[in-house]
Amino acid sequence: MGNLFQVLDDKKKGKLNFKDLLMILMREGILQDDNRMQNVYKDLGISKQNFPSQVTLNEATFDQIIKSHTFVKKALKKEMVIPNFQDFCTEIRKIYTQVEKNTGGAVADYIPQLARVNPDQFAVSICTIDGQRFALGNSDVPFCLQSSSKPINYCLALEEHGLDKVHQHVGREPSGVSFNALALNSIGLPHNPMINAGAIMSCSLLKLKDQSASSADRFGYVLETWRRLCARKYVGFDNTVYLSERKTADRNYALAYFMRENGAFPDNVDLIDVLELYFQCCSIETSAYNLAMAPATLANAGMNPLTGDQVFKATTVRDCMSLMTTCGMYDWSGEFAFKIGLPAKSGVSGVIQVVVPNVMGIVIWSPRLDKVGNSVRGIEFCKRLVELYNFHNFDSVARNTGKIDPRKRKHEATVEKLVSMIYAASNGDLEELRRLQANGMDLNMADYDGRTAIHLAASENQIEVLRFLINQGVFLDPKDRWGGTPLDDAKRHKHTEAVKILSKALKGK
Ligand code: GLU
Repeated sequence: MGNLFQVLDDKKKGKLNFKDLLMILMREGILQDDNRMQNVYKDLGISKQNFPSQVTLNEATFDQIIKSHTFVKKALKKEMVIPNFQDFCTEIRKIYTQVEKNTGGAVADYIPQLARVNPDQFAVSICTIDGQRFALGNSDVPFCLQSSSKPINYCLALEEHGLDKVHQHVGREPSGVSFNALALNSIGLPHNPMINAGAIMSCSLLKLKDQSASSADRFGYVLETWRRLCARKYVGFDNTVYLSERKTADRNYALAYFMRENGAFPDNVDLIDVLELYFQCCSIETSAYNLAMAPATLANAGMNPLTGDQVFKATTVRDCMSLMTTCGMYDWSGEFAFKIGLPAKSGVSGVIQVVVPNVMGIVIWSPRLDKVGNSVRGIEFCKRLVELYNFHNFDSVARNTGKIDPRKRKHEATVEKLVSMIYAASNGDLEELRRLQANGMDLNMADYDGRTAIHLAASENQIEVLRFLINQGVFLDPKDRWGGTPLDDAKRHKHTEAVKILSKALKGK
C-alpha cells in the first residue's frame, strides 16, 4: 500500500494534500456527498470548518484511510467498475445532448397533477455498483415514481412471503395488454407485478402477516425502504399527486373489485386500504439524482453501493429483474427486451429506471410519453446507450459488434487481444489466430518491443502460422525494437524451412 502513496506523492514531499486526493476521487466519480466520504472525513477529523485545504496526509494516515475505506483505494488504483469514468461521462453527455433535441410525445394527462409538469425537463443520472456518480440536466427536480415504484413493492412482498406464496396471487407472464387493462390471466390472477393489477396485489401482501400494522405502518415501511435504496437522501411524498390519483382512480378500483370477484386476494385484506397504499406508493417522490441509487442497488445484488446496506436478498433482486426484463416497459416490454436487453421499469411521470446488472443503475426522466406510456427521450437514451456500449444482456455472445466495454481500462481490450495473438503465433495456434482475425484484430499489430505475430512464428518455427500470415498479406519485414526482422529470427535459430519460406515471400514482394 505504501506504493500507492509513493505514486501519488510524485514530488516526494512525504505528504499528500487531501484536497488533491478529493480531486482524483471526483474524477473517478466519487462525489463529496457520497455517504462513505462522511466516514473518511470523520476519521481524518475534518469538519466543515477546517475543510479541506489545510489537511495533509502522511504515509501512515494515508495507509490507514485506504485500509479502512476500500472504495478510496479502489478509486485511486482505477479499479472501479468503470475505470475510465471521465471518458464514460463524456459519451453520456453526448448522448444526452442528442436526445435532448427530441421533443416528441406528450405528458400524461389522465391524472390532472401529472398534466401540469413542465414537459421540457430532462435528467439523466447514473450510479455504478462502486458508487461512481454522474448526473445531467434537471437531476435535482423531484418527480413522482408512479409505476416505477412497482418493482420495489414486489421485492418487499417476496421477502415477506417467498416466491411460492406471492405467485399464488400474481402471475409472471407479460400481459400483452396496456398497464391498466381490465384483464386477468386464465386463472383469474393479475398477469404480473409490473402492471397495475399486479402492483395492487403486491400492496395487498405488504405486512400482511402483521395484522396489527396500520395503514401508516405499511406506507412507512415502503417509504423507509425507498430511503434505504436512495442512501437516505431526500425521498418524499407528493400529496397533490396522491389526491389527484385517488380522485381519478375508477380504473384501479375496478381492477381491485374484479380481482376480489375472482378470489385473487389473500384473506383479511381491506381493499380500500390496499388501493390507498397503491396510490401512495405511486406518489412517492424523489429526484433523478437520488433515485439512480435504487437501480444501482438492484445492479449490486441488493446492496446499496453508497451505504453498504443490504436492502434486499440477491435472489429477490434476481427475480425482480427477471420480471422487469419481461414486463417492465408497458406494452413495449418485448421490444425493449429485444432492442435494449436490460431490466427496466418506467412510470407515467416520464421516469425509466434501468439496471445494468453488476455495473450500474441509470435513471432517465423526461415527462413526454409515447403512446404506450414510456418516456420518449428515455427510450431514445436507452437505444443510443446500448448502441455504443455492450450492455445488452446478450452482447456477451456477439463479440464482434464494435461496441465499447466501459468495464475495461482504456487499452486493456487491445492488450488482451494482442497478447493472445502473439501467444497463438508462437504456439502455432492457427485456430486462435483465425478467431482473432475474424474479430477484427490487425495481424500486423506489434507489442511494446515491436514484436509481431510473424516475428514469433519465425522465431518458433511455426510453419503453418508463417504460411497463414504470409497469405493474409502481413508486412514481411517489420523491425522490432532491436532492428530485427522475422527473417533474422529464423536465421538466428537456424529454422531452415522458415528461412526458405520467408526469403521466397520477400523476393516475390
Ligand atoms: N398511478 C398510475 C395508475 O395507477 C400508475 C401508472 C403508471 O405509472 O403506469 O394509474
